[in-house]
Amino acid sequence: MKTVPQKYKDFVKDCAQKAAWLIGVSHYEIDIHYMSEKSEDDCCTRTKRGMMTTDRRYLRGTLRLYPCVLKDWESGNKKEVKDVVFHEISHLVTQHLYDVGVATYRDDGEMRDAWETLTEVVSRLALRIDDNENNNGKKK
Ligand SMILES: [Zn+2]
Repeated sequence: MKTVPQKYKDFVKDCAQKAAWLIGVSHYEIDIHYMSEKSEDDCCTRTKRGMMTTDRRYLRGTLRLYPCVLKDWESGNKKEVKDVVFHEISHLVTQHLYDVGVATYRDDGEMRDAWETLTEVVSRLALRIDDNENNNGKKK
């Protein structure tokens, strides 16, 4: 098995921590697995490059990154790596709505909670972008 470069791991970990902090899921413990095989679906489409498994009850996320992400890193495409990691970390916050959506029995209250929480996350992100644009990142 090919060894995964430490610098790549450090970069991925930084991205994961940054994304988790920005969207408010830094209370999740995130395990990162570097897969040596492609995913079963062809890996190299945008959404199949990584995979997040979320355990909402125990606040754990398992992030799997497939070899094509390492290839991007090796060819200097750090932006692509960051994109994949940010996308997968964002699954931690959308998971609740998905779970309620696919449940056979769903409670109106829970549906509303999941919806409100996700809406709050999006709203905070928009506020943060607005703050950055107006104050160049400085707090008033
Ligand atoms: Zn996804």
